[in-house]
Amino acid sequence: VGVNYPEEFAGYAVHDVKEWNHPKYTAYKPKTLDDYDVDIEIECCGVCGSDLLTAQGGWGDLKCAQVVGHEVIGHVVKTGPKASLYKLGDRVGLGAQAFACLDCPRCKAGNEQYCAHSVTTYDGVYPDGYVSQGGYASHVRAHEHLIFPIPDEIKSSEAGPLMCGGLTVFSPLKRNGCKPGAKVGILGLGGLGHMAVMFAKALGADVTVFSRTNDKKEQALKLGADAFVATGKEGWESELFDSFDILLNCAIGLSGLNLDAFLSILKVEARFVSVGLPSVDEKFNVSPHTFFSNGAHLSTSCLGSRAEALELLDLAVKHDIRPWVEEIPLTAEGVSEAMTRCWKGDVRYRFCLTDFHKAFGT
Ligand code: NDP
Ligand code: ZN
Repeated sequence: VGVNYPEEFAGYAVHDVKEWNHPKYTAYKPKTLDDYDVDIEIECCGVCGSDLLTAQGGWGDLKCAQVVGHEVIGHVVKTGPKASLYKLGDRVGLGAQAFACLDCPRCKAGNEQYCAHSVTTYDGVYPDGYVSQGGYASHVRAHEHLIFPIPDEIKSSEAGPLMCGGLTVFSPLKRNGCKPGAKVGILGLGGLGHMAVMFAKALGADVTVFSRTNDKKEQALKLGADAFVATGKEGWESELFDSFDILLNCAIGLSGLNLDAFLSILKVEARFVSVGLPSVDEKFNVSPHTFFSNGAHLSTSCLGSRAEALELLDLAVKHDIRPWVEEIPLTAEGVSEAMTRCWKGDVRYRFCLTDFHKAFGT
């Protein structure tokens, strides 16, 4: 092992969707260094449900041998000619977005995650056709605006999961009125879900966790949830009529999600927001009749903005919020174990791949 930086990066790449949980050590060329790009020498990277769905081809075919991973923490080792936010050696993080134009009305309104020119950290395509490569790697190159300074108080393996999972739940909670007095439901207690519970509590809401079974009840309460509902048994919704202001769906699949029941427990004009993004062949199947009797909103949310990322990091320090992380050193076997077990739901509640300097000789 060893990496020929800066000419080449190295990472664990998925070459075939059938082998999605056996990425192979692969060297590749980085994208062109643009004016505002920053190179991060990676220290660790969280394992997100999106990594699995991308590797499996659940969101579309692989465009090339693909390195996934978008919960990156590391140190700045190079900056483009106009980049000014960071200096060499700074400890920084990168989430699921690597580029935004910063010039369009969406970017200017603080909605850069919805920029039409957005490029995701992996599986994204730059204007010159280069397919972006993610964080199970020695290095990653991204626009400085999407790279965040990591407070000293948060250790790297716990900061990683905040970059994608944390920001993805924090943004819709903020934007949909999660505050003292709000009654919030979190659906699916996985990587995103467990961080959503902690952030919703920190924002002052009354929080209920919805999980398919009773297995995670004790841990949900330990995370700070006020109530817990197992949705495996039919009829659970009958006692919860007219209860919720926000339901944040963090589930990776739809088979265990009774959307009609969830919509029925919202207050008038309250919101069901999905950050969960299952494979493209799974669809919401719901009649307008279902949520016509409360005028509820059915919506989605994508990642979060830089301003929200900075606010989240601040809140995490102030409220001592840390994801529950299981560390696995990065090796071919380690990546494979993390991806396989994450897909089985066998993690409490986020894997972070570590020891990257050893893996790549960086
Ligand atoms: P995890 O695998 O960690 O958690 C998913 C949770 O979903 C599980 O813990 C489980 O909760 C629940 N679940 C699993 N299978 C089903 C099913 N068939 N039906 C209903 N519920 C199910 O994944 P992540 O938290 O990492 O990711 C969650 C989703 O969020 C993924 O789809 C991911 O792609 C998406 N995502 C979206 C982003 C965005 O910008 N919108 C950004 C990042 C991720 P329980 O056992 O409690 O029922
Ligand atoms: Zn993610």
